[in-house]
Amino acid sequence: MDTVQIGWVGLGNMGTAIVQNLLKNGCSVNVYNRTKEKETAVVQAGARSQESMQQLVHNSSIVFTMVSDDAAVKEVYSGEKGLLSHAPGGKIFVDMSTVSPDTSRYLAEVCNKSGNDFLEAPVSGSVKPAQEGTLIILCGGPVEAYQKVKPYFDIIGKLSLHLGENGKGSSAKLAINYFLALNLQGLAETVLFAQDKGVKMEDMLTIINEGALANGITKGKAASIVNNSFPAAFALKHLAKDLRLADGQGIQTPLFSPVLHTFQQALQNGLGEEDVMAIFKYLQQGKGS
Ligand code: NAP
Repeated sequence: MDTVQIGWVGLGNMGTAIVQNLLKNGCSVNVYNRTKEKETAVVQAGARSQESMQQLVHNSSIVFTMVSDDAAVKEVYSGEKGLLSHAPGGKIFVDMSTVSPDTSRYLAEVCNKSGNDFLEAPVSGSVKPAQEGTLIILCGGPVEAYQKVKPYFDIIGKLSLHLGENGKGSSAKLAINYFLALNLQGLAETVLFAQDKGVKMEDMLTIINEGALANGITKGKAASIVNNSFPAAFALKHLAKDLRLADGQGIQTPLFSPVLHTFQQALQNGLGEEDVMAIFKYLQQGKGS
């Protein structure tokens, strides 16, 4: 695409898919992942493995991060061997992880202190949209930095929105993930109620998916429910984390507490590494009632 060197830290389910899409679109990408073996797939696709985060920063103009949670991003940016440990000024750091708005503002502060720009850019959408470059990017931070990164956002997503100052992108992300959790629990409860009344699961899913209530979640998760198989595209532990973050931001809507309770209990019942739709399994066992 051009000669700008992109750095990417975090090659989990999302990072791997996004980097593969950037490479497919001709970008030059330096990568670092804590567990080295997870770099193999993208290195085979043309990415350059970096020995350390310091080396990655040195070799890149725009550095993206996409790791698990608030503690992970803080370690990646501010740890002893983290991104900012030897960062010269003039770089743009872009965190695409889902974290608290407070953490995004903290990261902006530490990046700015060392003369670097910071954007938070969490995404709506999972692995398939990441592979296809159709994510929705929810950006907070200085608009000038957003304009510079936008050509890459345009590869990563079908839409990027600049929502205002740091914290706004993360707030929007927590809001959309609350809606996701409502969708998942609504779908699970509806199918289980119908099944309890003798309606076959497959038939109830067809009724939902052929009608006005169909959406990407009801369609995308139907096969997992029917096959009782929930390999993680978006791990349940991460959505439980996002609900806890929304709780920390003071959300007080009537449906919030029951949904948080379901996901927390499913997590404590050992479903954290499975897909978010595995709350179906948890509710099916009559738990959560
Ligand atoms: P994942 O598959 O669990 O991968 C997590 C990544 O974070 C791995 O690369 C892991 O490195 C790294 N990591 C964790 N702790 C770290 C630390 N202390 N230092 C350095 N690296 C660390 O997660 P994911 O599904 O890609 O999700 C990443 C982020 O995007 C999360 O915030 C999630 O909420 C958000 N998100 C996910 C989806 C989705 O559908 N999956 C969609 C939208 C947003 P190791 O390989 O060494 O463990």
